[in-house]
Parts: sequence; structure tokens; C-alpha cells
Amino acid sequence: MELRAAKGTRDVLPGEVEIWQRIEQAVHRIFAGYGGREIRTPLFEPTELFVKSTGSDTDVVTKEMYTFEDRAGRSLTLRPEGTPGVARALLEHGLLRRGDGDRVYYIGPMFRYERPQKGRSRQFSQIGAEWFGSPHPAVDAEVMEMALALFTSLELSDLGLTINSVGHAACRAEYRRKLREALLPRQAELCPDCQRRLDANPLRILDCKVPSCQPIKDTAPVILDSLCGECRAHFDAVRGYLDVMEVQYTVNPRLVRGLDYYTRTTFEVTGGALGAQNALCGGGRYDDLVGSMGGPPTPAFGFAIGLDRLVLMVAAEQEAGRAAAGAPATDIYIAHLGEEALRSGLAAARALRRAGLTARLEPDARDMKKQMSRAAAAGARYTLILAEAEMARRSCALKRMSDGVQTELPLGDWQRVVQEMAVGR
Ligand code: AMP
Repeated sequence: MELRAAKGTRDVLPGEVEIWQRIEQAVHRIFAGYGGREIRTPLFEPTELFVKSTGSDTDVVTKEMYTFEDRAGRSLTLRPEGTPGVARALLEHGLLRRGDGDRVYYIGPMFRYERPQKGRSRQFSQIGAEWFGSPHPAVDAEVMEMALALFTSLELSDLGLTINSVGHAACRAEYRRKLREALLPRQAELCPDCQRRLDANPLRILDCKVPSCQPIKDTAPVILDSLCGECRAHFDAVRGYLDVMEVQYTVNPRLVRGLDYYTRTTFEVTGGALGAQNALCGGGRYDDLVGSMGGPPTPAFGFAIGLDRLVLMVAAEQEAGRAAAGAPATDIYIAHLGEEALRSGLAAARALRRAGLTARLEPDARDMKKQMSRAAAAGARYTLILAEAEMARRSCALKRMSDGVQTELPLGDWQRVVQEMAVGR
């Protein structure tokens, strides 16, 4: 039997993982600068959580969830997105009321049973941010700007921010009526799902991916025209704050997001290389979610970035610009011969690493010449040579790889080695 990764999943191997780590570090650094703190929630949750929050008529819930019964007959689901779990966790631990846990972000895998294709898999990772507690339009602008700041720090170009407003519940009720009226005469031309949606949840039609539904959608009225005065003012204010922050954007009145809980601002960031269909980041305001989960009314704004897609883009950008990320730099390679030398080498490696250096030692190595070429291949700045002649004199040799200059130092005085390396920088 040939063992392979399950369909729609993939391994992240050394060579690529450095890009993931670079992105993760940028997330921690940049989001902290906006007051964000990391949260880690379980990979599976009671199924009910997603049905109630993501929406019982969304593609994610009806077609894409990995749902299973555990041995006690509970229905559980591998999380298809992060927001419901985060909202549940903050509610469960009373962090929304305390006010100190209300700006959180996460990085981790999500699971959706989708048709695998480039940039779309069944296990994929998202970077998400959820800012709870404020209905202020400046929060919308600042959180969108934060997503862009992350992309900019990763040196991505060709980014497009698209925004829209889907109003609050009453605006949407009004719009639903208008949409239904407009599409009813063309019901028979819609796909079977959309024919059903026309009665159950006409807004979902705008999110349908079936090609034959696209031209019909294009004739539908737009939600921006159904906004109440307050929602329109909110949207105008968001645009004003984006202008203040010199963030460029376009308004797409047909942008609705695939999940049920959005209110007012919705947005997407697309990246040039991926094309408009493959958004890099999506999100918006969800002022009713926490309330609908039984919590106190809590306005919120958030987004999710597709980490796998971001990695593809960063990798493409790196290839275009600089050399691809390789193995981490090695400060010092420790070449050894014989058991006694190996023991000294292990002690040296420990001391050097404690001093913040990266040290590499290969215990199986038997041949000094081979180790010298391994040191060069690893790009080591220095090689510590623990060979017979030096060992017999209770000393070791430190070789600077850039010019081959070798210094003899007393064996065991690893601090001297660190000092010598610092001088030779
Ligand atoms: P969503 O949670 O559907 O709003 O998606 C947010 C972002 O997650 C998208 O813009 C994509 O970048 C990414 N994403 C969603 N589904 C997948 C998938 N199946 N595979 C890879 N990335 C995905």
C-alpha cells in the first residue's frame, strides 16, 4: 500500500516552512502593535456552534463541514472557520465583559470539504483577527489597515482592497424583499440551490459560484441602495477614515461575504498573482454574532487571511526578488574525530547555543574532510575543528570560513570561541 497525504491536505516541508515562520513572526509583531493578543481555541467544536453562527444555509455549513459523532454520540465538527470558536471562548471565559481580552488574533488550521484546486484545500490555515466591543467606524478602517500593514511588511505588491456595506438586520430585510422581487421572474434560470434560496435566503444567491447564475446576479439590485441613514453614515465614515490613513480601496456594491453573521462593512483583499476569485483576506463587521450566541450585545470587526495563499504569494515574490529562503544560517559547524572529540563537541555546541549562536554537529560523521565540505555547504561562518592533533594538545582550532584563517584556542574555554567569533564578524 502506498501511503499518501489525504486528498486536499499537504505537507509543509523544510524549505517552505521558513516562509510560514516569517509570516507568523510578522503577524505577532504587527498585530501586537494594534493591541492584539493571541488566542488558541480547539480544532473541533460542537456542530451546533457553526450551524447557529456561520449560518445554516451557507455553503460552509451545508456542504463543507467535517462533522462526526464521537464515541458518546455527540456531534462535533472540525472548525471550518475561526470566528465562532473565538466568540464562544471569550464569552465562556467572561473576557468580553472584562475588556482586556477583546482584541484577539489566531493562526491555525481550518477544515472544509471543498474541491481541491490551486489555492483551495481541505485543510488550510488562516490568520484571523477579531476586535470586539466597538461599533466605531474607525475600528473598521484601522483593522482593515492592519491587514494591509501585514501584507506590506511582507513586501507584497499589487494588493486591492474592496469594501461594501451589507447594512444591519433591517436594511437586509428590506433588501431581501427587493432582491426576491427582482429575481422571481427569472427563478427558473437559477441553479437548483438558488431556486430554493430565493425563498429561504435570497442574499445567499449573490454568493453562488455556479456560472449560469452569474449574469442573473449582475442584474440584481445592489444592497448599498437599501441602506438606512445610520448604516450609510457608518459606511461613509469608514471611507473617510480610510482616506485619513491613506488607504486606497474600491467600493464593490455586489460584495457580500459567504457567512451569515456580517453586518455593515464587509471587505476583501485580493492579491495580483492570485486573481480576483482567490481573495487573500475577507472579513467585516459582525455586530449581532455575540448577541445571537446568547451573550451581551457586542459589536465586533474581524477578518481571516488565507495563510496558504499568502505563503504562495510571498514565495512568488521572494523568487522574483531575492533568493528563496533556505535553511537557517549556521554560525558554527563543529567538526570532530573520535569519541573524545565528540564529547567536547557536544559541550561546545551547548555553550555556543546558549550564547545565542546556531551550532551544527553531526555525531555520525567519521571523516574530517567530509565534515569540512559539509561546513562549507551549510554556509557556516566558522568551523570548530576537534581533530586528533589539537585534542592531544588540549586545544581546538577555530577556522574562519571567509578567508580560511585558523586560530588555536584552549579546549573547553568555549567563551573564548564566542568572543573570537564576535571579533571576526
Ligand atoms: P472565508 O473564511 O471563507 O471568508 O475565507 C477567508 C480566506 O481564507 C479566503 O480569502 C481564502 O484566502 C482563505 N480560504 C478559504 N477557504 C479556503 C480553502 N479551502 N483553501 C485555502 N484557503 C482558503
